[in-house]
Amino acid sequence: MPANLLIENIDFLVTANQEQRILCGAWLQIEDGFIRGFGTDSAPSVPQDYPRLSGRGKIATPGLVNTHHHLYQNMARAYTPGNNQSLLPWLANMNKLWEYFREDDLYICTKLGIAELMLSGATTIADHHYVFPRDAKNMTETQFEASDQMGVRFHASRGSMNFKSDLISDWALQDEDTILADTEALITKHHVSEPGSYQQVIVAPCAATSCSKSLLIASAQLAKLYDVGLHTHCGETLAENEYSVEKFGARPLEYLLDCGWDYDNAWLAHGIHFDDEELATLAKHGIGVAHCPNANMRLGSGICRVPELIDHAIKVGIAVDGSASNDSGHLLGELRQAFYLARVKYGAEAMSALDAIDLGTWRSANLMGRDDIGKIEIGKCGDIALFPFEDLYSNGAENPVDALLICHPRQVSDLVIGGNIRVREQQIIGLDLPALRNEHRMRAKKVRETSFH
Ligand SMILES: [Zn+2]
Repeated sequence: MPANLLIENIDFLVTANQEQRILCGAWLQIEDGFIRGFGTDSAPSVPQDYPRLSGRGKIATPGLVNTHHHLYQNMARAYTPGNNQSLLPWLANMNKLWEYFREDDLYICTKLGIAELMLSGATTIADHHYVFPRDAKNMTETQFEASDQMGVRFHASRGSMNFKSDLISDWALQDEDTILADTEALITKHHVSEPGSYQQVIVAPCAATSCSKSLLIASAQLAKLYDVGLHTHCGETLAENEYSVEKFGARPLEYLLDCGWDYDNAWLAHGIHFDDEELATLAKHGIGVAHCPNANMRLGSGICRVPELIDHAIKVGIAVDGSASNDSGHLLGELRQAFYLARVKYGAEAMSALDAIDLGTWRSANLMGRDDIGKIEIGKCGDIALFPFEDLYSNGAENPVDALLICHPRQVSDLVIGGNIRVREQQIIGLDLPALRNEHRMRAKKVRETSFH
């Protein structure tokens, strides 16, 4: 799978390095899947049959990295009962849909969601799947199969729920032994930690409110044992804080720490409602935050303190979150929301376009414990997103790189993963996208209809 590629005449190469350097008129060479060189001098001479890609008229960035998602929810987007509700009532409505949702449905959701993400610049994708209705056994395997066919780097956060509440029906719960055995088997079979990894497994209870204390403790132990990521939702709403204090006698972060989550390979989705003391705690333990601006705005949850997290040296990355609270998976568009939401709270100087690109590249990679992706540097993975220099919505822009974030989000023209061209001229190679969309629409309708029986 690792491939060679020479990208020539790149109008703007955004390196996302420490100096936020941008090269004009650049070349970049990938060999055996990794960046071998780049520069603005003459491109290296390569054999006649060496694979090449033109960067003319394009802006190249490191492939974007998505750190939290629920791909299955793309069958529940813009679902009327929850469209004007906050997190808990929205969740209660959405959770009713999945009793008859099975592996073949998830396969289609995963492919469609990955297509959305790829066309918006993503090369590495984390998904948090926690719905395993009754006899559904191979959900995560299905996701690896779909991601493998699409050619992206996939981090499967093996979710879990074993704690009954008003929000969750019995058919959605699994017992602790089943959850832990399946998660461990997935780690053993699929997790690759070496540079260039295409498959990783993350231990990911859905939330402290939907899992027993025993499961939260065992999940942290399992992640530490295998040195893999540990992930859950935390700090999303004020109601969650109140519930946690009432039910567990502690705020959510304190409760997780009580369950052994003091782990520098742990990260929490949302992280909106942490106070100053909790920011210091996150920094102390190396626990990071996946920022999900669209979902936070859509559900009216609040604004994550991203610039302050960065000031505290807390790891933070970007995430489109679930397709039913976003309700899309456009990663460049998500960065634009992060970029603007930071300005709503902290002023126009809080985040630049290049800061937003950092958030979507090396910061997200760092959050998920990867130092082999997210920057244009020799030795990093050959994962490159190439966006058209301009489109109708950015026509005539004086600063084309800033325009990537300031103007309306666009799709990539090309996407390269490990030196392989996966998108060329806005088409995902080897994918019949109209057929996939038809299949997905049909199944989404079925999921909605069967839930009413
Ligand atoms: Zn989520």
